[in-house]
Amino acid sequence: MSGIQLVRKLEGELAAVFATAGEVAYDNQIKVLEAFRELKIREQHFHGSSGYGYDDRGRDDLERLYALVFKAEDAIVRAQIVSGTHAISACLFGLLRPGDELLALTGAPYDTLQHVIGAAERRRGTLCERGIKYEEVALDHAGGVDFLAVERRLQSAPRMVLIQRSRGYSLRPAIDMEALRRLIATVRAGAPHCIILVDNCYGEFTEWEEPIELGADIIAGSLIKNPGGGLAPGGGYICGRGDLIAEVAAHLTAPGLGKALGASSGANRQLYQGLFSAPHVVLQALKSSILLARVFSELGYEALPRWDAKRSDIVQAVCLGEAEKLLRFVRTVQRYSPVDSDVQPEFARLPGYDDEVVMAAGTFIQGASIELSADAPRREPYCVFWQGSLSYEHSRYVVSRLVDEFNTP
Ligand SMILES: *Cc1c(COP(=O)(O)O)cnc(C)c1O
Repeated sequence: MSGIQLVRKLEGELAAVFATAGEVAYDNQIKVLEAFRELKIREQHFHGSSGYGYDDRGRDDLERLYALVFKAEDAIVRAQIVSGTHAISACLFGLLRPGDELLALTGAPYDTLQHVIGAAERRRGTLCERGIKYEEVALDHAGGVDFLAVERRLQSAPRMVLIQRSRGYSLRPAIDMEALRRLIATVRAGAPHCIILVDNCYGEFTEWEEPIELGADIIAGSLIKNPGGGLAPGGGYICGRGDLIAEVAAHLTAPGLGKALGASSGANRQLYQGLFSAPHVVLQALKSSILLARVFSELGYEALPRWDAKRSDIVQAVCLGEAEKLLRFVRTVQRYSPVDSDVQPEFARLPGYDDEVVMAAGTFIQGASIELSADAPRREPYCVFWQGSLSYEHSRYVVSRLVDEFNTP
């Protein structure tokens, strides 16, 4: 059977799962649209400012829009935030002081954040070098939150807890909003004044609710992932309690300047349009991941999460078991990308990551993982992480080509 024939056959089973994802996207689209209507967004909002960027109405209302959508008091949405890591790092450095403790509740944080924290290295400028204590609660054997251990560790009264929603480059499941609700209740009971920070990367618009609605204090993420809708040329966002956002802004720019400065240059229209498109684009990414999971489990590979599992991020892992298969998978994705289709990816070192990584990123925006992309760290059990897709039709074609590649010995 050819790749596309197998895809057509298995797609028949996905109707109910796709329909649920479609209903989430529908409600999120309404939520975003209503925020645009409430703020009376106009074409004038898309003109950027220059220099200091004082009185940049487009920038300020974009931040109000994010605050409305994520149910926060305030937000920072800036092209000057260089990545998701920068957004989260700004929250950590902006809010923690020497002597404070940061407690990670969902095991080891994302690779790049480990260098920000600096628990395992003696490098200047890290949180640990600045006298912030770092502790982490390991996940339980099934990769879920270890609630008993969390309760115990909260007795040290940490200043902040860090919760990572997405699996990132690990095989544990995403923390869904049901688990997050319970985790937040546990933190509030054990350490009432502790700041709850959620790394929301890859999670936005995959569920009906977002972390702040459940009681998180502050969330952060990347604009070249879900909320940028594939249109944002770069940047990051932070949403949360007003007093916390003010402190983070004072760190990001300078005390006394805060959010008042920062020219939006020419990116406003793309940031607005990207947010408007995000629920739909996230649906494309979810359907793409569900299809890959269904098809590769048919071929005998383990897919995490399973195709019919509840999702709280757009990432799909498939365990291929051999480094050579990772290369074949990633090269096939690259070959059927709209950009750099003739480039052959290789394993290489990347700033912030410990293992060598091979990446397919034939994307319009460099490294944008809301566009169809696949990456694989060279480590056991040799799993590829697949995420994003601006169009389900594109990923459907790529999945069919992957079947052709992996079905022929
Ligand atoms: C992508 C990601 C980050 C950091 O993102 P960058 O934009 O690459 O710096 C942090 N946490 C998680 C879970 C992520 O997926």
